[in-house]
Amino acid sequence: MDTNIREKLTTKKRIVVKIGTTTITHNDTGELDLMKLEKLVRVLTNIRNQGKEVVVVSSGAIAVGRQALGLGYKPKEKSVKQACAAIGQARLMMVYQRLFSEYNQMTAQVLMTKYTIENEESRANAKATFTELLNMGVIPIVNENDTVATDELDFGDNDTLSALVAALIKADLLILLSDIDGLYTDDPHSNPNAEFIDYVDKIDSDLKSMAKGPSTISGTGGMESKISAARISAKAGADMVIANGKDVYILDDIINGVNVGTFFDLT
Ligand code: GLU
Repeated sequence: MDTNIREKLTTKKRIVVKIGTTTITHNDTGELDLMKLEKLVRVLTNIRNQGKEVVVVSSGAIAVGRQALGLGYKPKEKSVKQACAAIGQARLMMVYQRLFSEYNQMTAQVLMTKYTIENEESRANAKATFTELLNMGVIPIVNENDTVATDELDFGDNDTLSALVAALIKADLLILLSDIDGLYTDDPHSNPNAEFIDYVDKIDSDLKSMAKGPSTISGTGGMESKISAARISAKAGADMVIANGKDVYILDDIINGVNVGTFFDLT
C-alpha cells in the first residue's frame, strides 16, 4: 500500500465513531469497563479539541440494563430486551456525561429508529438537530431507540445505524471500533492462514465472499454489515476504517494516518 494513502485521513473534519458493546464492557462479566470508557472519552474530547467534529454511536444499552438488573442471561423476549434498553440507555448516558464533563465537553443523547431516516420530515428534523448540536460544539451520542423499535423499524445493528448517521450528517469519516482488527481474507478465528487486509478501494464479489464468515466474537454486526456500512457511507462521501477497540488510542492513530485497521478508501 502506498504509504501516503493514509494521509487522506489526517484531513477529516466530521467523524462518526461507532463503539461496539464489546469495546466498553468487560468480556467475562459484561460490566462497563470504566478505565476504557475514561480513555475513550479523553481521546474523543481531544479529537474535538483539534477542531474536528465528533459524533459517537454507542451500543451497550441492553447489556448495561441487563447487568443493572442482575440478569444472568441474555434475554430473548422482546419486551424484556426493550425494558433492559430503557434502564441501560439512561445509565450509559449518565456514565458518558459524567466522564465527558470532567473535560467540560458537552454531550447530547440522540435516539433513532429507521423511521427517523425513512420519513422525510423526521429525517430533515434529525439532520437539523445534528447540525445544531455540532455547531454548539456538542458531541452527540447516538443509539437506536431500542425501547420502542419494532422489528420493521429496527436497524438490526449499530454498524448500519452509524453509516446512516454518517450519510445523514455528511460526515467525511466513519470509524467502526469492534473486537476484530479489521477485514481478513477468511475468518481468522477458524483459519490461521487468513490474511489481514489493510486497504480496500473497491467492493467487489471477492471482497463480499471474504465477509461471509463470523467476524466478531460477541457483537451484533458481522463483517457483512460492516461492508454494507462502508457502501452506505461511501455513497454519501465518507471513507471508513474498521479497527480493534481493545486499545481506544487507536482512534488517534487512525486520524493521524497510521496504518492500523482496514481502510475503506471508497470516495
Ligand atoms: N442498540 C443496541 C444496544 O445499545 C446494540 C446494537 C448493536 O450493537 O449493533 O444495546
